[in-house]
Amino acid sequence: RTVYVNGEYLPETEASVSIFDRGFLFADAVYEVTSVLNGKLIDFEGHAVRLARSLNELGIENPISKEDLLEVHRELVRVNEIDEGLVYLQISRGADSDRDFVFPDPEKVKPTVVLFTQNKPGLAETVKPMKVISIEDIRWGRRDIKTVQLLYPSMGKMMAKAAGADDAWLIEDGFVTEGTSNNVYIVKDGKIITRGLSNDILHGITRAAVLRFAEEAQMEIEERNFTIEEAQNADEAFFTSASAFVMPVVEIDGKALGDGAPGKVALRLREIYLDESLKKAV
Ligand code: PMP
Repeated sequence: RTVYVNGEYLPETEASVSIFDRGFLFADAVYEVTSVLNGKLIDFEGHAVRLARSLNELGIENPISKEDLLEVHRELVRVNEIDEGLVYLQISRGADSDRDFVFPDPEKVKPTVVLFTQNKPGLAETVKPMKVISIEDIRWGRRDIKTVQLLYPSMGKMMAKAAGADDAWLIEDGFVTEGTSNNVYIVKDGKIITRGLSNDILHGITRAAVLRFAEEAQMEIEERNFTIEEAQNADEAFFTSASAFVMPVVEIDGKALGDGAPGKVALRLREIYLDESLKKAV
């Protein structure tokens, strides 16, 4: 596989980043994951805009223009012959050999830019009815910034796995925030209910697109908090992310939703999302 590091395309075995990189030492880095279908990038624009926002919130100078970033994404997809898969992008504040908590002078330390692809044949066809558990949300308070601090989400997935489930939904002050790596929704009497945007959750690129398509299809949407009990008593549930698109949830904390099968709204939204996103893919 060919990867990209700071302006260079290299075989993955020859690519390297300093042990002093602040992404490694402090999780002082942001990332994006963009899916690839039919060899094209899904919603590149949305990911580029969110990346710029994440960098800005952390005071990391954006080291690469949107045009160059698109070019790197496309080149990696091309050389690695990705038909269906993902492009992972990470930008850290850079490598500072002093290991100081204080941010280094941006004149001296430049951000580290890394991109690589993941080949995922069958990504669009894969619909897995998901079982989720609920766990406490103990992450930091700026979940709107897409940082690489993913230890708790990883632990959440491990807790889910240990419980025989596929993922965990996070609960704060009695309400569901989001999944470990996705935005979550319930459907009751045809109405789609999802938590509103704030610093408590990541502003999903897939969420924005799916809600837009749902609105265009005259579906009713309510952006508000909901509890895990309300979710367990919903007709259906699903989650969205750039790598899973729209995925039905059929069980929450051991309770089957509705008739236990993937919901109609979720499956319809998945179809619309894939169709519409592919039309606009670059
Ligand atoms: N919330 C969290 C915590 C996530 O990690 C992700 C995916 N990285 C999402 C939501 C979904 O965002 P997107 O649709 O942009 O992939």
